[in-house]
Formats: sequence, C-alpha cells, structure tokens
Amino acid sequence: MSDAVMTIGGEPVPVAGTFGVRNPATGEVFAEAPECSRAQLDAAFDAAAKAFSSWRSDEALRRQTLLRMADVLMASAGEIAPVLTAEQGKPLGDASMEVFAAALWCQYFANLETPPQTIQDDTDALVQVYRRPLGVVAAITPWNFPLTLAFWKIAPALLAGNTLVVKPSPFTPLSTLKTVELLGEVLPPGVVNAVSGGDELGAWMTGHPIPRKVSFTGSIETGKKVALSAAPDLKRVTLELGGNDPAIVLDDADPALVARAIFAGAFNNNGQVCSAVKRVYVPEALYGDVVDALASHASAAAVGDGTDPATKLGPINNAPQYERVKELVADAIAGGARAVTGGHPMDRPGYFFEPTILADVSDGTRIVDEEQFGPALPVISYRDVDDALDRANGTHFGLSGSVWSADPDRAAEIAGRLECGTAWVNTHLALGPQQPFGGCKWSGIGVENGPWGLSEFTEVQALYRSRTADGLNISTAGLVS
Ligand code: NAD
Repeated sequence: MSDAVMTIGGEPVPVAGTFGVRNPATGEVFAEAPECSRAQLDAAFDAAAKAFSSWRSDEALRRQTLLRMADVLMASAGEIAPVLTAEQGKPLGDASMEVFAAALWCQYFANLETPPQTIQDDTDALVQVYRRPLGVVAAITPWNFPLTLAFWKIAPALLAGNTLVVKPSPFTPLSTLKTVELLGEVLPPGVVNAVSGGDELGAWMTGHPIPRKVSFTGSIETGKKVALSAAPDLKRVTLELGGNDPAIVLDDADPALVARAIFAGAFNNNGQVCSAVKRVYVPEALYGDVVDALASHASAAAVGDGTDPATKLGPINNAPQYERVKELVADAIAGGARAVTGGHPMDRPGYFFEPTILADVSDGTRIVDEEQFGPALPVISYRDVDDALDRANGTHFGLSGSVWSADPDRAAEIAGRLECGTAWVNTHLALGPQQPFGGCKWSGIGVENGPWGLSEFTEVQALYRSRTADGLNISTAGLVS
C-alpha cells in the first residue's frame, strides 16, 4: 500500500519526499505517503484557480459530475475501505460505510435545488438574490472520519461552483489520496486536488494567498490557529471543532433501553467522534442500573483489528491520542473514579484500550471537563435536572447533546435548553446530508450540510435589473428629487 499519489491538476504528482503511515492495529509503519513541498502546494492552488472559471459557469456539468462521483465511490468501496481500515483502524464494514456516506453526500448535493430568491418584481425592478461561488477552497480534515468529513466539504463546495485543494490528516492520508485519484475518471482537471503532509502543510494552506475559504475540521486548538491565519486575508472560514457532548438521562427513562443507545452513541468509531456522547448525567435513583447496563455493553464489545469480521471496536488511531486516553483515565481513577469495566491499555501491539465505563466521577475531573475522544465514558450522578443542565452547559464546548426520557416532549423541552448545535431526544449521532451540523461556542463557527452548509461555500449577490426608462431607482428618500 505504498503507491499513494497526490493529485494536482488531474495528474499524479511525482513524489519528492515521503512520511510513514502507521497501522494503529500494529503500531507499525505500513506505507509511505507523499510529503507535499511548498512548490507542489502552489501548483495545487494554481490548478484549482485555473479550473475555477469554467467549473463555476456550468451548473449542469457540476450536478452530473457529482452523480458520477457517487457512482465511482460506490464502485470503489472495495478498493478504498481496506486502505481506510489499515490507516485508521476502524472495522472494514464501517470503512465501507464511510465510502458509501461520501457517495450519499455527492448524490444529495447533486440534487439540491438552489434557485435565486426574488425579492422584488414590479415596474421598477426585478431584484433577485443569488448565491455565487467563493473561488478556491482549502479543505483540511482530521483522522477520525477522513472520507466522510472530506465529502461534507467537497460535495457542497463543488455544487456551489468552487474548486478545492484537500489535505487529510498525516495519520490518515492514504484513503483520501486514493479516492481523489480514482475520481480523476470523472472530475475535470484541477477541480479537486489532493495533497498530503504534516501539520505545517495545513498552516501553509490557511496562509496561502489563493484560497478564498478555509473549511476546517479538527481540534479546537488548531481551529483557533486557522482562524488567526485566515484573518489577515479575510478568508471565509468554517470551523468544525471538538465536542464534549453530554447525555442527560431523565428520571422516567428505562435504564436498559437508554444504556444500549447511549453506549452506541459513545463508542461509535471507538469513541473517536466529535459528537459522540462524552459524559452521561444520570439521576441518583437510576445511577447504579445505568452504570451496570453501560458496563455490560462495554465488556461485551469485541475489540480487535478492523480486518477481523468479528471486530466491533478497533484501536485508537494514533500514539498521541492513545497516550491522552490513558492519561485521562488514569487521572480519573487516581482522583477516586471507579472503572466499572476496563480502565487499562490492552496487552497487545497497537493502540488498543479496554472499553471503559467510569463511575463515581464528577465535574471538575479532567475526563469530564475535557474531550477524551476515545473508548472511555464517565457517568455522573445528579439530583436536580436544572443543575444537570447547568453542568452540561457550563463549558466552552457546544457541539451536540442528548436528553433521554419516556416522555419525548419533556425531553425536547430540556434538549432545547442545551447550548449546542444539535440536540437529540432519545438518540445520539443521528446525522444526515440534509441536516445542518455545527458547534456553538468553541465547538465551531458555521455549519456543514443541508442548504445551510451549502451557503457557507457561497457569497450572496443581489442582482438588480432596473425596469425604469431612465434607470433612476435610487429609493432612499430624499437622495434624488
Ligand atoms: P487536529 O486539529 O490536530 O488536526 C486536524 C487537521 O488540521 C489535520 O489535517 C492537521 O494536519 C491539520 N493541522 C494541524 N495544524 C494545523 C495548522 N496550524 N493549520 C492548519 N491545519 C493544521 O485534529 P485531529 O486530532 O486530527 O482531530 C481530532 C479533533 O477533531 C477532535 O477534537 C474532534 O472533536 C475534532 N473533530 C470535529 C468534528 C466536527 O465536525 N466538529 C469532526 C471530527 C473531528
């Protein structure tokens, strides 16, 4: 798997230098990825800029190309998914789902209507509001869902008429490079360019003079650097950043039912989901039952290499993240938390950590206050639901959250008071291409998906056609008499 190539201007680029990519199930380097040079990045942005004017001018071609991209993705899942599993660690079935999700996003945006809005149509004028493309987009993605998150950017950016340079995480570059290479079959040259390299490559991109927009998904820390770097050039930014999602269980909930769904919402992708459940608030009366039910799901989960069909949870993706999860769990236990199940790294090669449920833990503990982004879930007891809500909201995070109850209306009222971009009732992680997704507070700026996400890849243009003979339409009273 060392044949990864960057695609610039529709062509594979000769490799200058490379860096190693590790398989998190073994901890070993299994492939080399191209290290993009400054000159190659310039070439990628030049190619995207050159492709922009014809791409923006043919909406029918854009829609048709997105549909053809979906076909290529569907047909290539068998080729792309093993690469994704090897570099990311997720089970092969989940890796295939990522490719299918990428196809679904292409189909959704191919069919999303974007008519101009008519705001005046009379004897004076026809005034319509259009959405125009921004130009070249720099798209930067993290390692947890390399393909899904890339296509949350690529599909709407393309429909809007932009061209892109995409940079995946240095931990997971190969599946994105392979996918863009395969899409060369249907994409005009330069419309989507893919480059790979370390974090400094991301910084070069955000500081580069060509892109007019940075669409970034990653950590809060990096998101702030991206905002700073984009500011002097007034680049548009969308920032999809970290989360610390609370799940609040109400006192009328069925512990077994909610534990099953909360476990799924917390341990999806081995907990490495921006909007996974990351802390659970449970009323005292239900606390023991919910903790035990969560622990039984965690201890039954099959952890292993993503290529093993029995595997439900893979490894943590990379060494720094593995160390972080170890550190946060150890810190909680040292502070008095009880690992009802798990609590330790697994005694095998690779970055495997036991699925962990932590009880007797409270706010003020690092694993509750910070984003763990891994297979360890703290469960916190509460007496008063308003207090639980205050604690859920009392943070810089604001990505999403959920409320669980036998009474959905009561839960919806409380969910509406969560300070976050997505509030779920009796579920968590329900997402789709039509549904806006983004964070409040430090969890982000802007949204992705749906018409709202699409408009972030556009600029508003009011197109005013005068219908008066003399063209004097200045309506501000008193300016013209
Ligand atoms: P990260 O911020 O370390 O890296 C993300 C990307 O940014 C990578 O491609 C990286 O190379 C690049 N990068 C690093 N430094 C940069 C810089 N100075 N300028 C520009 N780009 C730079 O994040 P990560 O560890 O890859 O991902 C995990 C984080 O992402 C978690 O916090 C998670 O919650 C968040 N995330 C958020 C969402 C969302 O939609 N809100 C989705 C998935 C992950």
